[in-house]
Amino acid sequence: MKSILETLKHYYGYESFRPGQEQLIEAILRGDDVLGVMPTGGGKSICYQIPAICMEGVTIVVSPLISLMKDQVDALATMGIKAAYINSQLSFYEQESILYSAVHGELDLMYVSPERLENETFISYVQQMNVNLVAVDEAHCVSQWGHDFRPSYQNIPRLMDVLNNRPPFAGFTATATTPVRADMITQLRLEQPYQYISSFDRPNLYFSVVKPKKKADELLRILDNKESSIIYCNTRKNVDTVYDTLVKKGYPVTMYHAGISPQERTQNQDDFLYDRKPIMVATNAFGMGIDKSNVRRVIHYNMPLDMESYYQEAGRAGRDGAPSEAILFYSGQDIITNTFLIEQGNNPHAKSNLNTMITYCKTGSCLRKTILNYFDETPEWTECKHCSNCDGEMVKTDITVECQKILSCIYRMNQAYGTGLIVDVLRGKSTSRIKQQGFDALSTYGLMKEYTDGDIKDMISIMISENYLHLGGDQYPILQFTAKTNDLLQAKVRLSMTKSLKEEPTTTKKSVENIENYDTGLFEQLRELRKEIAQGLGKPPFVVFSDRSLID
Ligand code: ADP
Ligand code: MG
Ligand code: ZN
Repeated sequence: MKSILETLKHYYGYESFRPGQEQLIEAILRGDDVLGVMPTGGGKSICYQIPAICMEGVTIVVSPLISLMKDQVDALATMGIKAAYINSQLSFYEQESILYSAVHGELDLMYVSPERLENETFISYVQQMNVNLVAVDEAHCVSQWGHDFRPSYQNIPRLMDVLNNRPPFAGFTATATTPVRADMITQLRLEQPYQYISSFDRPNLYFSVVKPKKKADELLRILDNKESSIIYCNTRKNVDTVYDTLVKKGYPVTMYHAGISPQERTQNQDDFLYDRKPIMVATNAFGMGIDKSNVRRVIHYNMPLDMESYYQEAGRAGRDGAPSEAILFYSGQDIITNTFLIEQGNNPHAKSNLNTMITYCKTGSCLRKTILNYFDETPEWTECKHCSNCDGEMVKTDITVECQKILSCIYRMNQAYGTGLIVDVLRGKSTSRIKQQGFDALSTYGLMKEYTDGDIKDMISIMISENYLHLGGDQYPILQFTAKTNDLLQAKVRLSMTKSLKEEPTTTKKSVENIENYDTGLFEQLRELRKEIAQGLGKPPFVVFSDRSLID
């Protein structure tokens, strides 16, 4: 048998493995279950394709999108690897003939959608196959904690029950925080999997957060005619508007959202992929499985709803390793719109997910570090020197003293309360709770009168994101000190936030309710969102797979 390195060279023409590939492949060949977590573009496909080539029998690959399967199968075919996909777009005869070849050992890889696993005919064929591996691409779809939950992914472990010999199961994803990672293992029923979690750092990406006076002007300022860019907007309507603006200005631009016909979608996607129109304006329906290596910048025209989606979308820039940019535009209005959106949905994590994004937009600390911290990675450095906060492009306000005031309030209240009450005490509010419990006698009562609730909450979020505070408590979240808190109290470290917070509307429930009365532009946007929600485009923030025609 060829070594796996020889296999890599022979079929793919690559000289060496990327970090993690070799370990994952070897674990699979040993017969272990595995979980591979690598950023977009990290090279996850090879981790199951090489074992599929090396082992007797067929590998079943569960993959969420038809377009994704097709691209992979076509690419494998050009390398002389025997692969096929099964989906509802194929005729009955075509499906039968593929299943037949798989049963007779004539296929190395068979790609299927998760929905297919509900099909009894399919299952009875699979029982006749020598299945050497079940690989689950985009494995985070199995978790309700993740950002694109697909219920049909939960059928996958059923294969363990129907197959005579349980092959190794392998999950791959680009998005996984510790809880999602644990949930994937549980949901996919992986047994003591070998796990490879690679660094999420993307050194070639320059991160920036901008709060433009006029987003359209800023966009025109940074776009380049010749370079490939993706612009993500939160609604179809915004996609249309931005697209129209760019067309009028003569940019080579195309667009993509769930509201245009499948033919048009394919056409537009191809125009973009082949650089006939290197600029793409799209909703988040666009991008999964798109392997375009020369995207030079990804611009988020609106603040995304969570860090996982943001990082996955931003990560589509610079897959070739060349210097590229991930730019996020935000406005106070985005915060309100997003708050509204998550209130329409029923994701219990949506609020804290959104807070993470708000913190990302407002923090004065290194953006890269903020992202990596979110993914439970602690970089060695404190400043990456390669983001808009490290570069000093943003106006920053030192908030060390303010943070110390907040910390002393938390301390005096015995680290036993949540954000709401701490803010009320610092602001010197005279609520019945404060009076009853005598908090108005504390030395920290009213210590931050002149700040807004929003400002203080932002500072608390920044401290949480930098691990100077920890959210503990069983029943409800309680602010507690961490091992790092002392450094901040002694000003051994300093914290800052980006300025100009004062003019932003705050995101109280009331402001969301009354929102339609005070901003007509926003009213229109919300109406559009409601319409999209009503049309069954998924409960926000789960909109990625709302587009049924793309899936099996
Ligand atoms: P992911 O699924 O992790 O986003 P892919 O499997 O699509 O990433 O791989 C991204 C790109 O990197 C592909 O073009 C792939 O051929 C390339 N690639 C993967 N492994 C290697 C390697 N060892 N050396 C060079 N290029 C690689
Ligand atoms: Mg992939
Ligand atoms: Zn930085």
